[in-house]
Amino acid sequence: MTNQERTSVNNGKFETDRHGWAELLPPRQATSPLEGEHRADWAVVGAGVTGLAAARQLAENRPDQKIVVLDAREIGQGASGRNSGYAVAVSHFGGGFARQKIDEYRRVNRINQAGLTLLRERIETNSIACQWREQGFYHAAADNRSQAECDHFLEYLSALEVAHTPLSSDELADRLGTIAYKGGVHVHQGALVQPAALVRGLADTLPANVQLHENSPVLNIDRSTPLRLMTSGGALSADNVLLATNFEAPKLGFLARRLSASTLTGSFTRILSEEERASLGSLADWGVLSLHGGGATVRLTVDGRISLRNTAEYNGGKLLDAAQLKQRQAVHRESFERRFPQLAHVPFEFAWSGVEGISRNSTNFFSKAAKNIFIAGGYNGSGVSRGTAFGHALADYACGDDTDLIRDCLASAPATWIPPRPLVDIGAYFTVKKRFRGVGLDR
Ligand SMILES: Cc1cc2nc3c(=O)[nH]c(=O)nc-3n(C[C@H](O)[C@H](O)[C@H](O)COP(=O)(O)OP(=O)(O)OC[C@H]3O[C@@H](n4cnc5c(N)ncnc54)[C@H](O)[C@@H]3O)c2cc1C
Repeated sequence: MTNQERTSVNNGKFETDRHGWAELLPPRQATSPLEGEHRADWAVVGAGVTGLAAARQLAENRPDQKIVVLDAREIGQGASGRNSGYAVAVSHFGGGFARQKIDEYRRVNRINQAGLTLLRERIETNSIACQWREQGFYHAAADNRSQAECDHFLEYLSALEVAHTPLSSDELADRLGTIAYKGGVHVHQGALVQPAALVRGLADTLPANVQLHENSPVLNIDRSTPLRLMTSGGALSADNVLLATNFEAPKLGFLARRLSASTLTGSFTRILSEEERASLGSLADWGVLSLHGGGATVRLTVDGRISLRNTAEYNGGKLLDAAQLKQRQAVHRESFERRFPQLAHVPFEFAWSGVEGISRNSTNFFSKAAKNIFIAGGYNGSGVSRGTAFGHALADYACGDDTDLIRDCLASAPATWIPPRPLVDIGAYFTVKKRFRGVGLDR
């Protein structure tokens, strides 16, 4: 076997920690790691929303075939279990409304909406308890600069005939209990979810012909026939491989120079008392996305916590350690107290970080990467519904189908090239930094 036939051997490091949304849930027994020799028709690498959607659709397309899903970590420890829980139907494209891009906006929103519909159906069919609330969310501006973005966003929503309600500062204050926002808009479509509960529920209800092994990092893939995936404890031979490894695809030799990573952090308060909740306006739960791309995402969760995420940085594709998290929590705290001075006495219970896949030109990945190897991922911070749609479409694509959703996914723009290290580190650092430029009071 030549070097070209084997994907690059990675260092086998797949860090994780115990600071995430999964820690708000009851303990769960992970499935057993892959050990010994195994054979399957299909291997899916990665069990986030993309991989789980792909595995489920493969199982439906090929009910008599065996599908094995391998994840390096436990379910809920990847980005799919660590995000802010916004399952988006309508994307906000920052930087002004461009009428000539309307077909592109529609394409992306069709993908979002396909993912949202798939998630809704799966949650309902499998009775997945994940605090799914489909009542849209708020896009708001705390700073004059993002207030201008609000006008662009309203123009976009009207042009695309998206159901929405523009809201003044007072109307937002009545609903959310903060006078921090100068204005905003409620987009009626979209869902909020407990992300770790969602992926756990999706993983625990996979069809019978899907076998999941957690704590099973794939260290390399030999491009023999059949393909052979090596983990530290075992090996899996499979006719086809679907890669749903998000920003870690380059560790297996795919999308290097195309896909990078950004590490985000947020904090949760403890559960608020009745009185504290009453100070937050008329809604039982809500989610606000900032109209500034680097601004805070803030939620009142169904179980009565405020969660606030407002930092993003390049950290080499790694989570932040405890000392870094503590520093970032001071940033969360300042933002929280500015928005909710009436809750200044409420402590944070913990902080979390998560890593998202990013490309320089904010595109997504969907392709046949090599013979019998297919890949999807890299959603630049908007992958809950989109990743679900991409995973579903990838399974259909790998089965040789041709659907509208596949065509929409295939139409993603080619990714801009990322220079090699150390330039990539510098480039990624500045790309993420750019996101915060002018964030002002939206942070
Ligand atoms: C803090 C944060 C907030 C976010 N907020 C939102 C939001 O509110 N809404 C939204 O839509 N998106 C959000 N995102 C982005 C969203 O979480 C991701 O786009 C989405 O979860 C990607 O899903 P995925 O399945 O492709 O990747 P992941 O969830 O990252 O799953 C990839 C899996 O592959 C596994 N893996 C990697 N390499 C290997 C290997 N070699 N062998 C075995 N397994 C491997 C990993 O362990 C991981 O579990 C956020 C992201 C972060 C980090």
